[in-house]
Amino acid sequence: EKAALGALRSRACVTIDGRLIELHANIELPEDAIAAINVNASGVGLFRSEFLFLDRDELPDEDEQFDAYRRAVSAMGGRPVTIRTIDIGADKMLRVPDKRMDGTENPALGLRAIRYSLAEPKMFRAQLRAILRAAVYGPVRILLPMISSVREVEAAREQIVRARAELTQRGQPVPDDVPVGGMIEIPAAAVALRAFTPVLDFLSIGTNDLIQYTLAIDRADATVADYYDPLHPAVLALIARTIEEGERAGVSVSVCGEMAGDPLLAPLLLGMGLRNFSMHPAQIPYVKQALLACRHDEARQLADAVLAENDSRVIRSLLAAARPAAL
Ligand code: PEP
Ligand code: MG
Repeated sequence: EKAALGALRSRACVTIDGRLIELHANIELPEDAIAAINVNASGVGLFRSEFLFLDRDELPDEDEQFDAYRRAVSAMGGRPVTIRTIDIGADKMLRVPDKRMDGTENPALGLRAIRYSLAEPKMFRAQLRAILRAAVYGPVRILLPMISSVREVEAAREQIVRARAELTQRGQPVPDDVPVGGMIEIPAAAVALRAFTPVLDFLSIGTNDLIQYTLAIDRADATVADYYDPLHPAVLALIARTIEEGERAGVSVSVCGEMAGDPLLAPLLLGMGLRNFSMHPAQIPYVKQALLACRHDEARQLADAVLAENDSRVIRSLLAAARPAAL
């Protein structure tokens, strides 16, 4: 079986009826880019940059970050690298003493992700400068985590403009075109998607948090793990509308949460119109195998049937029945 999956490495991910799908890798450290290349990923769809900041007593400065981002960009050899600005807070707390975080009772609803970065503009700009410097070495995209309002996107863009100006002032080169995207992982952002498509260059759906916030289930709390249901109709409706509205507005959409790496869900996401999946590198061969066995037109019918259902158990059985015989 391993050999069969390995043989898929050089094959493009195309459905039986000719729809080309991009499979990107999620990475946490620059070294993970090797695994992404080993499975022939189309690029890095999610570089979780906060892992450079965790489990240490001093935070990385601009140069250390630049070095990490540049290594990932160079390792990907011209394939795009999407660097998410730090998503700390909640399940990813800094070890460095942080007064802002002390005493917060609901960290998942607190100062995390883009909110944290906007509250710490100096730290944010150091990261942005490091990312922009790395963009000289290959195609880089900036991804903003946990956006809930257009104001956050505007404020982040202002910081990017300032970071650029700071580099220019130093005489350091900055590439012109560094796309800025946003993560759709707060239900409000999915519902109000129309507000975001004019101000973002691309969208990436973070299903892990989207499920957590839609269902009010702490994703790290084992006592409610049974309630954490990716197939809940409300979750699927938010994903479907984000893909559809994003594509309609001409803004590319990817899914980078765990759902994108589940081969059983690949026909459903394909049927919702998804063309860009990002997942742990180890999942890429399995999802590719599933998509190679799909027809886009049939997947659309499956998605329509699933979206008309109100019971996630029924949805699960629809997906199991649609599973290609090869899997
Ligand atoms: C997500 O929320 O789905 C996601 C991809 O980000 P993280 O798991 O790092 O929160
Ligand atoms: Mg998330």
